[in-house]
Amino acid sequence: MTTLEHTTQPDILLYINGEFVKSEDGNTFENLNPFTNNKINKVYEGRKTDIDKAVMAAREAFDHGPWKKMKVTERLAYIYKIADLIDQEVEKIAYLEALDTGLPIKQTRSMVSRASENFRFYARMVDSRLIGEAYQVDDHFINYTINLPAGVAGLITPWNAPFMLETWKVAPALATGNTVILKPAEFSPLSANVLAEVIDKSGLPKGVFNVVHGYGETAGDALVKHLDVQLISFTGETVTGSTIIKNSADTLKECSMELGGKSPIIIFDDADFERALDACVWGIFSFNGERCTANSRLFIQEGIKDNFIEALKKRVAKVRIGDPLEETTEVGPLIHKEHYDKVVSYLEIAKQEGAEVLTRDIPDELKNGNFVAPSMILHASNDMRVAQEEIFGPILTVMSFKDEDEAIRLANDIDYGLAGYVWTNDIKRGHRVAHQIDAGMLWVNAQNVRDLRTPFGGSKSSGIGREGGHYAFDFYTEKKIIHVAIGDHPIQQFGK
Ligand code: NAD
Repeated sequence: MTTLEHTTQPDILLYINGEFVKSEDGNTFENLNPFTNNKINKVYEGRKTDIDKAVMAAREAFDHGPWKKMKVTERLAYIYKIADLIDQEVEKIAYLEALDTGLPIKQTRSMVSRASENFRFYARMVDSRLIGEAYQVDDHFINYTINLPAGVAGLITPWNAPFMLETWKVAPALATGNTVILKPAEFSPLSANVLAEVIDKSGLPKGVFNVVHGYGETAGDALVKHLDVQLISFTGETVTGSTIIKNSADTLKECSMELGGKSPIIIFDDADFERALDACVWGIFSFNGERCTANSRLFIQEGIKDNFIEALKKRVAKVRIGDPLEETTEVGPLIHKEHYDKVVSYLEIAKQEGAEVLTRDIPDELKNGNFVAPSMILHASNDMRVAQEEIFGPILTVMSFKDEDEAIRLANDIDYGLAGYVWTNDIKRGHRVAHQIDAGMLWVNAQNVRDLRTPFGGSKSSGIGREGGHYAFDFYTEKKIIHVAIGDHPIQQFGK
């Protein structure tokens, strides 16, 4: 029985210069509940004028506010305070996120509970790892580096794990001393405003953190093109990333790109069958399959192929779809009707390409929601669109391989390179294969477990740059080198 109700929510305002405000022209758009397709609320739609206002506030806060001059310990005290305040709101944020995105509440709760750690982690990292280097040149020079905040950071986020990904960017941006404009995804605006409320409560100086809701093509675009914004950290689709890089060229911004994926899971005959099965099912069906690092391409070795596929079929048939607010739900409705249409179209494409689709009917009581049943595409080959394109839904494309070389060749024969998973009990082979998969992040005999200290990001069409750990410092800070003469080095005497 559902204990939580699907409610409507107050309208969503923008947060600019320490105030919750309507958009300048008063325009709004509707925010829909993916389970009912009813309106949750109205969202004030920021456009260029609102972005201009937010950038002006962030610029002023950066150039003339107390933020930049503040002692680092004082700045980090704000970051710890934000983390504590997030902890107090976990249930509220988990609920809003499930309502807004259709992600099962059990999963939003576990994601949101980790969000405060993004802030604490970066506070600790700045304290311990945001360090310079010193180079002595004989007895002539001491050269040393310092790290400065880059300035105004534009953070553009997707709808698939909104709060987690927003905090993942906001935390290092603020901890390193930047000021921020967050442009959340238009399909999932709710939790970003809880972040704004929390940050407001923390007493952060006004203008340091701003949220402008709106569409990518208007609000996002204005942020990307703004002369006074130094950085764009973007997470979203590969095509959008490429547009953003083009649009940011005139103002020469540094861009960090966390883009799409179509990640392989390679399971060898000698793998721990049951654990590999658990990981494979979780890796594609958790977060409704709307997960950048989902193992959406299964490569199973021929020796265990039949048994593994049989076991998969049984498990997939029992994955529980339902109301995202129910604790027992494993797969909820997809974010939006538009996205649902795209995802189901791939089941048709699979059939046209000659693959076999295993899916199931959606029960009548769920028909108002954007449900796609957990599905498998069998007898697929790696050149099919369903094996090459990011579907971003609960659909697993299944393929097989003979030996290690073939597994590596097939896994790498794709434009994406975000993540990869290797299952084998041969330790040498585990390392060897992981080294050869063209992707930013590999897991061996493991599901996707993040270690915040490590670099996060993809290669090929899956991204540019790395965030996470101290790697985020390369992006969010400007390095400066100071050369200091400690002796009288020769200086040429032109014109003497
Ligand atoms: P999207 O690219 O449609 O939108 C992402 C954000 O970009 C939204 O806030 C949107 O409003 C904004 N945007 C769109 N057009 C823009 C433009 N021209 N200028 C500026 N901003 C613009 O992506 P999505 O559909 O929200 O998210 C799903 C995608 O995100 C998937 O491809 C997924 O793989 C990817 N993703 C990647 C990672 C990662 O870490 N690599 C993590 C999560 C999601």
